[in-house]
Amino acid sequence: PFDVLVIGGGPAGASSAIYAARKGIRVGIIADRFGGQVMDTLGIENFIGTKYTEGPKLISEIEQHVNEYNIDVMKGLRAHNIEKKDLFEVQLDNGAVLKSKTIILATGARWRDIGVPGEKEYKNKGVAYCTHCDAPLFEGKHVAVVGGGNSGIESALDLAGIVKHVTVFEFMSELKADAVLQERLRSLPNVDVILNAQTTEITGDETVKGISYIDRTTNEEKHVELQGAFIQIGLAPNTEWLGDTVERNQIGEIVIDKKGQTSVPGIFAAGDCTDTPYKQIIVSMGAGATAALGAFDYLLRN
Ligand code: FAD
Repeated sequence: PFDVLVIGGGPAGASSAIYAARKGIRVGIIADRFGGQVMDTLGIENFIGTKYTEGPKLISEIEQHVNEYNIDVMKGLRAHNIEKKDLFEVQLDNGAVLKSKTIILATGARWRDIGVPGEKEYKNKGVAYCTHCDAPLFEGKHVAVVGGGNSGIESALDLAGIVKHVTVFEFMSELKADAVLQERLRSLPNVDVILNAQTTEITGDETVKGISYIDRTTNEEKHVELQGAFIQIGLAPNTEWLGDTVERNQIGEIVIDKKGQTSVPGIFAAGDCTDTPYKQIIVSMGAGATAALGAFDYLLRN
């Protein structure tokens, strides 16, 4: 059996595995897709100490770093259940069962897509999801924020300080964000909000050139010319498969304590699958280190 079995091969999982392996214990890592969301990231400018890198390059360096250690890396496998017996037993999609004294959940999250034509085609060419990551690329431009909930309005407020103009597109007849965020938004000269807007297409040539939408009050088709679109309709944690195994909050994020432990002693979690408020590469790597040290501490005491 493993001492620490990490489920997930993004930055949080890789960091947990390295930190755990450095304790000289038996470590395994299962990754459906090694690299996680970072594999879909073009430019990265906020990984401190590295002015600029690209997702696949960073992942290849992380993988080399993982391979420096005695870590059992199992790629292309999905975990679909955990049972607590003498040890934890993790069932995989291929029917195999892996046993471990502790588990670190690092299954990450996925941005919800709006699923309209142009969204996929212009990903990284004007269509963006992460404001903390990509806002500076749109300096001086007119951009859209699709989604008027808290994340959409926070994104619009953040963008307004950097870009020339922000247009928020909300499907419903009112914004769903907290009142204080809406008030801040209204105080800004370079933001406008379009309500009752059903986004139908993101248009462009090489890069994004505009957004088409149906005005749901009149059923008229309309078009706004702009140079970028931030899709802000929610980040969904990859935790459905856990059911009630560990406590999750109302949006499905795994609840953890300061050592990264979940509601079940011996099961730890890190990164975008948890209730940590900020979802970033550097944050998830730090959380992975915390969970590994938490798991090691647990092993010493049990
Ligand atoms: P993830 O990266 O989501 O990795 C999850 C891992 O778990 C994957 O290996 C996945 O295959 C695996 N997995 C999931 N379910 C299972 C299962 N059941 N069994 C086995 N394996 C499973 N952050 C920045 O700091 N800077 C940026 O510039 C930046 N740009 C971004 C651009 C885009 C387009 C996106 C989508 C995100 C960006 N982010 C950026 C956010 C950053 O990528 C995430 O915060 C970070 O990847 C989270 O790491 P994680 O390890 O928690 O999860």
